[in-house]
Amino acid sequence: MTSTVTIPFDNSFSRLPEQFYTRQDPVPVAAPKLIKVNEDLATLMGIDPAELKSDDGVQMLAGNSVPDGSSPLAMVYAGHQFGGWSPRLGDGRAILLGETLGTDGVRRDIHLKGSGRTPYSRGGDGRAWLGPVLREYIISEAMAALNIPTTRALAAVETGNKVLREEGPLPGAIITRVAQSHIRVGTFQYHYSRGDQDALRTLANYVIDRHYPDAKQAQNPYRALIEMVMDRQARLIAKWMQVGFIHGVMNTDNMSVAGETIDFGPCAFMDTYHPGTVFSSIDHAGRYAWAKQPGIAHWNLSQFAQSLLPTLHEEAQVAVGIGQETIDEFQDIFSGYYFEGFGKKLGLTTLQHGDPDFIGDTLKLLSDNEVDFTLFFRHLTGFARSDMGQDQDTPKQEQAQDHKQKMQNLFKDPEAFNNWLSQWQTRQDQEKASPKERLEIMRKSNPIYIPRNHQVEAMIQAAVSGDYGPFEQLHSVLSDPFTEQPDNARYEEPPKPEEVVHATFC
Ligand code: AMP
Ligand code: MG
Ligand code: MG
Repeated sequence: MTSTVTIPFDNSFSRLPEQFYTRQDPVPVAAPKLIKVNEDLATLMGIDPAELKSDDGVQMLAGNSVPDGSSPLAMVYAGHQFGGWSPRLGDGRAILLGETLGTDGVRRDIHLKGSGRTPYSRGGDGRAWLGPVLREYIISEAMAALNIPTTRALAAVETGNKVLREEGPLPGAIITRVAQSHIRVGTFQYHYSRGDQDALRTLANYVIDRHYPDAKQAQNPYRALIEMVMDRQARLIAKWMQVGFIHGVMNTDNMSVAGETIDFGPCAFMDTYHPGTVFSSIDHAGRYAWAKQPGIAHWNLSQFAQSLLPTLHEEAQVAVGIGQETIDEFQDIFSGYYFEGFGKKLGLTTLQHGDPDFIGDTLKLLSDNEVDFTLFFRHLTGFARSDMGQDQDTPKQEQAQDHKQKMQNLFKDPEAFNNWLSQWQTRQDQEKASPKERLEIMRKSNPIYIPRNHQVEAMIQAAVSGDYGPFEQLHSVLSDPFTEQPDNARYEEPPKPEEVVHATFC
């Protein structure tokens, strides 16, 4: 069935040779029902949100009809899953409908996830249930509001079909995911592992054209591509860590070469700070723990560089040298972003000798005292604001004391906190930036609202029983994470002991 929804498609990926995908329509569902349309994003993409919300639009978002100009396909890729090689994965439950060029000039994929079986489904049913769809909607949009590169949610619908999972039959749903592209490290690995050098070169050129046009100017564009992908990943992982985000499944097939956060499965934001934090129910060894993410990114990028070796240079030996040398810069590049970002969280505008140690000591203290990560930096910002005299309406000393008290209350050892605070103040006194500038930097670096697990879980429970109120509310709060929302103060709160979520599921 063709849909009457008008989407200004311009499908570059489907013009690539057939080694990259299998043409495949979404599989129809019983009774589509709209959950939400992201109106701003639709408009940005050149799509009328009212059309998406119409009956026809909802049928399309559910995969029951295909819009004009779309070229539905399932992409093929491979990947290392938890370090183990899988020679063929691919879109097992997703369909790329096509791409649009937004009013901002950005090309974006429109991708249905949960849209039925494809040739890459292996044993899977090709479907998603409502919980993970809402989770992805909320968390990906929260990431965007936190200014972290990410895939976006354009829409979510219920399918009217049940999906069978361990817990029993659950309501089915489909998310319309938008990405700068869905090309992964695993896409390169697939063609490398098959020794298909033509495909690799085509893919590398495509990625350069689409995401890294500046690489064309370089002496060796493929080497430049590796460097640019590495830079975006280093920056991304540092940003994740600065908001306490744990991706959960950093397999090479879940790493986007465009540098966006992709594949929101058992991901989570930590409440209490501990570097070893893991939520994913399938990550038994803690491979993808909070602090392990840069090491894993480095490892994944080595796989990426290796896949590009045949295209890098005629002489394999030279290429291996180039690839490895390039990738070995990851740690330094990452550390730059990591310390810069944590410096900003602490109000340090330019890093001095000794700051990395101070940052490390601060995190160690948070861990020893089992401190809530977000609240600590949030109250430090509040304290800094009052301290810097920005609150004209409230007596500043009183404000400062309130935030200081709230910070101190987070610590098991108040004395340790007081010692830390006087160190922080000494370091602040050496800052050259004005208090106002420092405060602005802290404010932009320290969110007040993050998608806390217990709230996400409660939202899912409510939606399963038909109440989308908490979904809408959570979505709204998280759309403005850096601004105090006095009516929504409860969204700041960490879980009560009985509310703590210990594991997340895909
Ligand atoms: P992920 O762990 O989400 O990165 O998925 C790994 C692979 O499994 C990808 O190829 C997915 O398309 C596929 N997959 C995940 N869930 C399903 C499902 N329910 N049906 C079919 N394929 C799936
Ligand atoms: Mg995946
Ligand atoms: Mg997934």
